[in-house]
Amino acid sequence: NRPPVTVIGLGAMGTALAGAFLDRGHPTTVWNRTGGKAAPLAARGATVAATAAGALAASPLTVVCVLDDRAVHEALDPVAGALAGRTLVNLTNSTPEQARATARWARERGAGYLDGGIMAVPPMIGRPESLILYSGPAATFDAHLATLSVLGSPMYLGEDDGRAALYDIALLGAMYGMFGGYLNAVALTRAAGVPATELTPLIVSWLQAMLTGLPRMAKGVDAGDHAAAASNVRMQALGYVNLLDTARDQGVRTELMAPMGELLDRAVAAGRGEGDLSGLVDLLRAPEGTR
Ligand code: NDP
Repeated sequence: NRPPVTVIGLGAMGTALAGAFLDRGHPTTVWNRTGGKAAPLAARGATVAATAAGALAASPLTVVCVLDDRAVHEALDPVAGALAGRTLVNLTNSTPEQARATARWARERGAGYLDGGIMAVPPMIGRPESLILYSGPAATFDAHLATLSVLGSPMYLGEDDGRAALYDIALLGAMYGMFGGYLNAVALTRAAGVPATELTPLIVSWLQAMLTGLPRMAKGVDAGDHAAAASNVRMQALGYVNLLDTARDQGVRTELMAPMGELLDRAVAAGRGEGDLSGLVDLLRAPEGTR
């Protein structure tokens, strides 16, 4: 006797979320702005609501996962009257400020609210490796924990409604740093005729080796102790010039890599050359008055 659930938004992610609920036997109601996307879920047993209001009314818990914050409000503002007494779990990618504002908006309309960030791609949904971050009232999270666990491994980050979005955005930034580095690496070697498939296994093992240094850097950041272990910033700033020169020589644009070079130079100029890369975190804070 699994509790009924509604999923609003049937893009790649919403379809995966609804599919996981169906797989685990939750009576599942779905709604999407554009018709047609619900048909495969209906074939698996989902109830297709004719309106967003009907979708909200169908279940005590609604998961919304649409393109962005604007889409959340375009879909739900007109039917907000149907939110009272329901719980809304918003798994749409948002900024922390958007998450807090949507939380206020939902609670003002009598709904419970949790904000979440999905650290997974659609094929991972429903499996333990799908990490989903949540923030909001602990009682609301506890009340729906069993149902939300169907989607993957939930992690509760506390009562600040913006905290899950903050972690989500931070993790995505780390991911894009990695992807940017990867794209640059492949562009460089492809320009010399090396297939990406040849370089990629080396990149994977190199990144895995470098990842082991992150916990040590974290300790340095928290302690404000940036003594260099083996690789100081001055050496790295010099080496980085070669990275940019090679890109130019290979006919590859430096737009992805140049900002890190500028940061390294700024660190040296600020007297941090003998320290560890972890010290650069301090230089990323926008100066007072510019925020
Ligand atoms: P898709 O582009 O596949 O789907 C977007 C969904 O948003 C569709 O259901 C679309 O409806 C709906 N939508 C867009 N604008 C509006 C609107 N104005 N009103 C109502 N509905 C609207 O995106 P995903 O499903 O991949 O992503 C959904 C969310 O999940 C995003 O916030 C994304 O960042 C997040 N996410 C996605 C991941 C992924 O790998 N896909 C990974 C982690 C998070 P319609 O069909 O009518 O256009």
